[in-house]
Amino acid sequence: MPLTPQPNLEPYWMPFTPNRAFKKTPRIIHSAKGNYYTDSTGRQLLDGFSGLWTSGLGHCHPRIVAAVQEQVAKLDYSMAFQVGNDKAFALAEKVVELAPEGFSRVFFTNSGSEAVDTALKIALAYHRARGDGQRTRLIGREKGYHGVNFGGMSVGGIPPNRKAFSAALLPGVDHIRHTHSLPDMAFSKGQPGWGAHLAEDFERVVQLHDASNIAALIVEPVSGSAGIIVPPLGYLQRLREICDKHGILLIFDEVITAFGRLGAAFGADRFGVIPDIITTAKGLTNGVIPMGAVLVKESIYQALMSGPENQIELFHGYTYSGHPVAAAAGLATLQVYEEEGSFAQAKSIENKFEELLHSLKGEPNVIDIRNIGLMGGVELAPRTGAIGARGFEVFLKAFEDGVVIRSAGDILQFSPMFNSTTDELERIVETVHRALRKIG
Ligand code: PLP
Repeated sequence: MPLTPQPNLEPYWMPFTPNRAFKKTPRIIHSAKGNYYTDSTGRQLLDGFSGLWTSGLGHCHPRIVAAVQEQVAKLDYSMAFQVGNDKAFALAEKVVELAPEGFSRVFFTNSGSEAVDTALKIALAYHRARGDGQRTRLIGREKGYHGVNFGGMSVGGIPPNRKAFSAALLPGVDHIRHTHSLPDMAFSKGQPGWGAHLAEDFERVVQLHDASNIAALIVEPVSGSAGIIVPPLGYLQRLREICDKHGILLIFDEVITAFGRLGAAFGADRFGVIPDIITTAKGLTNGVIPMGAVLVKESIYQALMSGPENQIELFHGYTYSGHPVAAAAGLATLQVYEEEGSFAQAKSIENKFEELLHSLKGEPNVIDIRNIGLMGGVELAPRTGAIGARGFEVFLKAFEDGVVIRSAGDILQFSPMFNSTTDELERIVETVHRALRKIG
């Protein structure tokens, strides 16, 4: 007996989904609690992906639900320009408290994509405000994912995301090479020992364009969407050194890695490399209300505070920047992280997660397993002439068996909840063992 009547599936154009295939065999979630979804047929599914990297605290956390309910009944919305709301200020203060040393200002957005485009614009505005306005070039990295807006898509390095929009990508963008190499790092646990030298490719790009033209380098500390590409030991440190040497801003896109996914508040903390700008979203509100945030160092903010005091310093912002209900969700989320010790909790299960994930080595078609914190990737050999088909079938089989993971091409991705029990981690991995054997 379905929990809800089947909706008309046609009008909704789903994001990053093969719409026609989905609508033939839909997977519709009806409700969720803790680490489990219930689908529209009443079946329970273990969420092995924490929403979409979003919900490390589990679904419908009562503290966050209560904060949202209270806020929406008290202040649903107030004008975001020239007027502020108490929750947005309070959340910015909390984010700054949690941030690595030196980060003192926060700009709110509604998504990771908007956070990225905001960060890129801040980088350009910063150099210009300092009289260095020829620094306009933005550097990304191959395989990088920085959302889908024009800025993030341009600095991003995932070919299918760029292909149809090639003519509209931002000019003045270049990319350094990615760090993935199966022959050199397959089945590494945590950070690969090989590959720090790849950071020198950034020096090559700097020489090509001349440092005086380059505004910023943006990288994810761990490439998420491209399939959990973990930075080689020493690699991020070297990027930081090259940025410092040439006066280039370093932006860490921490939309996935901020707020506990790596067992620390930020990837910057985990890797001991402090960028100049950090973008976040997802875990900021545990996915409950859409929200992103861009964190900047004091020197960047101050560089822009130079004109007359009654003049807008940054001509940028969104109607929903600092939305009071989103900010209330963010405040409750950060409180729960603190009170439940969620980042330490995530850290305490990462070894078990690593051990279990690597038990998939030797299963049919598994050619690599990569992990750090509570991020895991299992790469499968693609079928001849059908790239992505095998990964998708494993995803479907796992779903049928009551476990949600993600497939992106032929890479299976894992992002368990911070409080996952050993039983839950075992169930996720066991389900994938079975699926791999069945799919072949
Ligand atoms: N940046 C990174 C590193 C991401 O992983 C994502 C989304 O997964 C984004 C940006 C885009 O975020 P959103 O989908 O909220 O726009």
